[in-house]
Amino acid sequence: MSLDRGEIEAWLRGAATLVTAHRDELTGLDAAIGDADHGANMDRGFKAVVAKLPEGGPDIGVLFRTVAMALISSVGGASGPLYGTLFLEMSRASEGKTELSPEEWKAALEAGVLGVAKRGKARRGEKTMLDALFPAVEELSLALSSGAPFAEALWRSERAAARGARDTIPLVATKGRASYLGERSAGHQDPGATSSHLLLRAAALAFAPGQGGERDE
Ligand code: ADP
Ligand code: MG
Repeated sequence: MSLDRGEIEAWLRGAATLVTAHRDELTGLDAAIGDADHGANMDRGFKAVVAKLPEGGPDIGVLFRTVAMALISSVGGASGPLYGTLFLEMSRASEGKTELSPEEWKAALEAGVLGVAKRGKARRGEKTMLDALFPAVEELSLALSSGAPFAEALWRSERAAARGARDTIPLVATKGRASYLGERSAGHQDPGATSSHLLLRAAALAFAPGQGGERDE
């Protein structure tokens, strides 16, 4: 099984729908440890992405670049350039490709996540989106290298992202706006880790529909 532009597009549309559905939740999380704009930022960003989808041909690298530019120019805040970097690095990894194999999907995602870490000068455990993204990529790698079917790997990766986001609750933020709160940032789930989980969830729903994990969250 491999992913073509149509499937990637379905992922991005699904991500936009999930972000809109969780807009108030993301805003509420950001209200607790930030400035209450993460839901609005992400919703605006993914609406801008969807508006750009009719452009371009079958090249997935070009598509990801368009996504990156839409996010960078519309989101603002810390998360705009960071999610922009995720897609820019995914674009570089998929340059000239009209299909991605499961391994290539994993490699692109991994490149994207490493790009976010570099751009944000952040590591795991700092209460950021990386606390959902790193476990998701790790689980995807582990699953694929042990021969699991792509669908299973995607849902395992989605579960790892969900756990990673939830596990940010006790952490003290040391990056971004939430770090201004110091110890008082503990006890709240990170908004960016939560939106990252939604992106991974949208991928599992788009690429492996009806294959488990479709509980409502
Ligand atoms: P802002 O903080 O500028 O208001 P958002 O509210 O849209 O931007 O996004 C906040 C999220 O961005 C945080 O919850 C966190 O996950 C993520 N974030 C902030 N700084 C960093 C960083 N240096 N590295 C990775 N992620 C970060
Ligand atoms: Mg904010």
